[in-house]
Amino acid sequence: MDDIRGTVLLLPGLQSLIDLLRARGWAVVGPTVRDGVVVHAEIESVDQLPRGVGDLQDGGSYRLRHRGDEKLFGYVGGPQGWKSLLFPSRELMWSGRRVGTEVEVEPAVVDAPRLALFGVRSCDLHAIGIHDQVLAKRAVPDPAYVTRREATFIVAVTCSDPGGTCFCVSMGTGPVPDRGFDLALTELPDQDVHRFLVVPGSDRGEEVLEELTTRAEGDEVLNAARADRAAAREVGAAAAQRMGRSLNTDGLRDLLYANAAHPQWDDVASRCLACTNCTLVCPTCFCTSVDDVSDLTGSTTARWRVWDSCFTNDFSYLHGGSVRPSVSSRYRQWATHKLASWVDQFGTSGCVGCGRCITWCPAAIDITAEVAAIRSGED
Ligand code: SF4
Ligand code: SF4
Repeated sequence: MDDIRGTVLLLPGLQSLIDLLRARGWAVVGPTVRDGVVVHAEIESVDQLPRGVGDLQDGGSYRLRHRGDEKLFGYVGGPQGWKSLLFPSRELMWSGRRVGTEVEVEPAVVDAPRLALFGVRSCDLHAIGIHDQVLAKRAVPDPAYVTRREATFIVAVTCSDPGGTCFCVSMGTGPVPDRGFDLALTELPDQDVHRFLVVPGSDRGEEVLEELTTRAEGDEVLNAARADRAAAREVGAAAAQRMGRSLNTDGLRDLLYANAAHPQWDDVASRCLACTNCTLVCPTCFCTSVDDVSDLTGSTTARWRVWDSCFTNDFSYLHGGSVRPSVSSRYRQWATHKLASWVDQFGTSGCVGCGRCITWCPAAIDITAEVAAIRSGED
């Protein structure tokens, strides 16, 4: 967003942006602190954002900390990502009921509230872009996902304080939002006045920004000066230097294909609990299975699509047994799909470097370290 003019919002201007999005019919869902983590929930006020909150993330560990300043976006992704809002963990596909000797089938009505996702990090923008590719742009799109995406407005934010498990720079997905947003904010470094540079990324974003500027009272919205744009660029550049992790992606696809029998897969399996956490927190994992539920009388039934995980034994069960009965084969499947076969299937990596699978793994298993161990045997 280097060459875009931009507008500066003071704190009241940021509140006006939230108010305007709500007035235009979007429920604003943004970061807020709940039960010791940053979660995404509906917000109405800048006072609900995590003011002065930072985070400490490492393998298997997540803690919030007091930053000692007033920053509103001085932390990175919590456990949730945005996946559950666009691709819910449980979704009704259809229901049916017996009427005499006939069965009446009713397709599900898609629940697609108009949502403004507020404070989306660049890695998560890329994850949404991957889901667009997988769920909306293929021969048979998922109609519920498409409907929800069309009802979504995105306000991105530049990361200023990457977490200990972040590696978006390695994956080319951050830390500065480069596409896939309607508006992008950068919280400018501490000055006497709390300020945000905001730039549009779509016609719709441009329109909202124009209305915000027109309606603004006093000096809550200002034209960006060259120094503001330079300061915003510096925020992104400094963040890029402070990634907690890195992943060497050179020849990665071929490296993993060539090492399907590497002993590291058994090594990681000796630590992996096959708990599925890594897939549930991953913003790009999209595997599901189907649950059929009927009442005790057999007169009604419903089919639900539910998130599943390649770490469960059942997921790869094919008439008579699992084709991936060992944990090592399941971890290998997950990592190789993310970083190699995803490229063949969908044209991108399946990993955006958000680090959630590292932070939220109870065994502190780190995909960057596992791949590095495999690569080290090649040198
Ligand atoms: S890698 Fe970690 S989070 Fe994933 S299944 Fe194994 S123990 Fe669970
Ligand atoms: S594999 Fe891990 S680091 Fe990569 S996108 Fe998924 S959760 Fe994030």
